[in-house]
Amino acid sequence: MSGNSILIAGGGIGGLTAALGLAAKGFDVTVMERASKFGEIGAGIQLGPNAFHALDTVGVGQWAREKAVYVDMLRLMDAVSGEEIVHIPLNEPFRKRFGNPYAVVHRGDLHGVLLKGCEEHPKITLRVNAEVTGYAQDGSAVLASLASGETAEGSILIGADGLRSNVRAQVVGDGAPRVSGHSTYRAVIPLDSMPEDLRWNAATLWAGPKCHIVHYPLSDWKYFNLVITKDNDAREAVTGQPVRREDVRSQFMHVSEKIRRVIETGDDWKVWVLCDREPVGGWVDGHVALLGDAAHPTLQYYAQGACMAMEDAVCLSHMLDTHRSDIPAGLVAYQEARVVRTARVQLGSRAIGELMFHAEGLHARVRDEIMWSMTAEDYYDRLEWLYGATGLTGVEG
Ligand SMILES: Cc1cc2nc3c(=O)[nH]c(=O)nc-3n(C[C@H](O)[C@H](O)[C@H](O)COP(=O)(O)OP(=O)(O)OC[C@H]3O[C@@H](n4cnc5c(N)ncnc54)[C@H](O)[C@@H]3O)c2cc1C
Repeated sequence: MSGNSILIAGGGIGGLTAALGLAAKGFDVTVMERASKFGEIGAGIQLGPNAFHALDTVGVGQWAREKAVYVDMLRLMDAVSGEEIVHIPLNEPFRKRFGNPYAVVHRGDLHGVLLKGCEEHPKITLRVNAEVTGYAQDGSAVLASLASGETAEGSILIGADGLRSNVRAQVVGDGAPRVSGHSTYRAVIPLDSMPEDLRWNAATLWAGPKCHIVHYPLSDWKYFNLVITKDNDAREAVTGQPVRREDVRSQFMHVSEKIRRVIETGDDWKVWVLCDREPVGGWVDGHVALLGDAAHPTLQYYAQGACMAMEDAVCLSHMLDTHRSDIPAGLVAYQEARVVRTARVQLGSRAIGELMFHAEGLHARVRDEIMWSMTAEDYYDRLEWLYGATGLTGVEG
């Protein structure tokens, strides 16, 4: 392996996007993935307009667009009354304002287009069964240690190794992630099983006391993705564990029959106990930097974790390209360009979970009154900071 190669630990959405972005700038890249094959678990993912900017920048935007479902609106429902609170149109005025659409896509499809881009790129090497356990550096090169006992040498190491990043453990050393106490259950239901009156072309969120339910169409309308969350004080972090139907259903007896019907159709449920971290700076240690969930893991309530990872990739590629003679300065410039925006997503996600998605009683009525008073333009103005910016906002000369 060439010592000039940029090493990336982790071949998730963040790591692969970074590989494509860096290769497009002429860098040689090696992606080292812990698993025995590249892939993603979980079904759907929402992509804001900022994600399409990133996908276009790294050269796979068109492929991703072909796989996406373009939803007409973000719809907020009251999970107890079964009534709509508000919907935010995602039609032409939205697309014109933010320069790109809002869409939903199967995770496997999104990861697949990134992987295909990497496989076809002559400057990218992909390795599996390659868990990075730590690193050493001497001011010009980085030596990554692998669980197999091997080492890999490169000019830079990017830790894109997710929520429980080994690279972060060395760079930041802030221990285990924070367990939020919220359990998220995921299932995919065939179109035919979705009640006809709820087959909306929308990313729909039913907000209720200590819970919320999200659904949207997926994979050319073959399925609906169903993601339901309960603030049930779960103490132990869990990732994608199978869970019994009854154990899911029994936690949602307090919601309207209208949406319970959907929950009842769900099968083959898996549970995640959600984690995040306090936002921190300090993602850089000399020639080593963090990216995506390794740097700024967030609750999913803005539906922006993967979008932020892709933005990071675009920004990192730009900064390393423009700081070729001073790598540490390039990495610090990348961190500084990204840290406030990603911290805003982390903190904002906690806040909307509490104030918007899980509100009850008078809190819910205050939410409704505020939301009813706003026009589509008002919502777009509030979302401008998120959807109107990109990984390059404020960094290009
Ligand atoms: C329920 C749920 C719903 C979500 N919905 C959305 C959404 O709608 N929109 C959105 O934008 N985001 C969403 N997210 C967030 C999004 O999934 C993550 O932010 C995103 O996948 C992070 O990508 P990543 O590449 O940084 O990390 P990961 O996806 O965690 O990838 C890390 C990769 O590194 C590998 N790895 C781990 N450790 C090592 C190691 N030491 N060495 C080598 N390889 C290693 C892993 O196997 C994995 O392949 C959601 C998250 C959850 C839990």
